[in-house]
Amino acid sequence: MSEMRYPFLDLAKVNAPYEDALAEAAVRVVRSGRYIGGPEVEAFERELADMTGVPYIIGVSNGLDALRLTLRAMVAQGRLREGDGVVVPANTYIASVLAISDAGLRPVLVNPDDRTMNLSAEGLERALSENDGVRAVMPVHLYGRVAWDADIREMCLRHRLAVLEDNAQAIGARSTADGLYGGRMTGALGDAGAFSFYPPKNTGALGDAGAVATHDPELAKIVRALANYGADRRYHNIYTGFNCRMDPIQAAMLRVKLPYTDKENADRFERALAYERTIERADVVKPLMSEAVTDCVWHQYVIRVPADKRDAMRRALETAGAGTDIHYAVPPHMQPCYARLAHGDLSLTERMAAELISLPIATGTTVEDASEIARIINAIEI
Ligand SMILES: *Cc1c(COP(=O)(O)O)cnc(C)c1O
Repeated sequence: MSEMRYPFLDLAKVNAPYEDALAEAAVRVVRSGRYIGGPEVEAFERELADMTGVPYIIGVSNGLDALRLTLRAMVAQGRLREGDGVVVPANTYIASVLAISDAGLRPVLVNPDDRTMNLSAEGLERALSENDGVRAVMPVHLYGRVAWDADIREMCLRHRLAVLEDNAQAIGARSTADGLYGGRMTGALGDAGAFSFYPPKNTGALGDAGAVATHDPELAKIVRALANYGADRRYHNIYTGFNCRMDPIQAAMLRVKLPYTDKENADRFERALAYERTIERADVVKPLMSEAVTDCVWHQYVIRVPADKRDAMRRALETAGAGTDIHYAVPPHMQPCYARLAHGDLSLTERMAAELISLPIATGTTVEDASEIARIINAIEI
């Protein structure tokens, strides 16, 4: 793979511009003697709070833990009860669904909108009318595209749904509609938002890391306790908790990269624009182009091709030196672990999974590379 002309993702290249600052931050942590918690993590939490406008940030171990600890905290609060339904788009990464199961809640899988590939107000409405006991919704800003609008907001308020955003793929995106608490940044729209800093994410750490953002001080306290053995202070365990803390070394890496989030996202937009302008094939459906740079922060650039041509198209791209991926080839409800999960008709989600191809979009791919990959696609004879 590494000798590929256009690798799907080259993380060393993504991080190369930050190398000196990352090395300096790493040395700072080595010399500090603080390897769990402490000032690096606290500073990171403050900086993410400033960036998102959300008052309470808890640095945690990864995005899945951010999601599952928040849901468990909502249960501990009495905001949700065991067995309550949580609406979640069926085409999401499995971590969204795992978090719901882990908290003893019930995933209510719904088809996304065919065009945006995100949860829509209509999809949410249908889920509410066809399922009893739905008390929460998890909008997933999939591929970096904002899954929030005035209709969804109104429905969440009317049905008093708890809203936990899965913001793993959309750090820095902004909604055109107000969030429940007024703000417009993804991760700040609902009652809480979960961030992932998994290295391939738009703002990635150099290992696993995540964060919970919330407007609710009580929820914040519970999440922080759950992530620290369930202790609200030393040797005082109020919950049967976990060890899901963010490492200071990752906080230090992220403090270098966080200020460049908008720049990285703008660079991804340029690559998306190159694909949008250059790909021209009747059998390829391009993703909706964003109107503003922040409507979609292009975590992935996902085209759709007829299912019977998908594998041949990927092979032809690979032969021409361009790496691709599929996000996600097998939807959560078709995974063995969810063989017994009840759900409605998800044929749209299944059809989509058979048609998707993700093209290189990270900053290791230049705009010229993207234009060239688009020309390769146009020339494939299938
Ligand atoms: C990456 C991701 C997660 C999980 O984040 P990790 O940090 O890898 O645990 C959750 N949801 C979505 C949509 C993701 O893309």
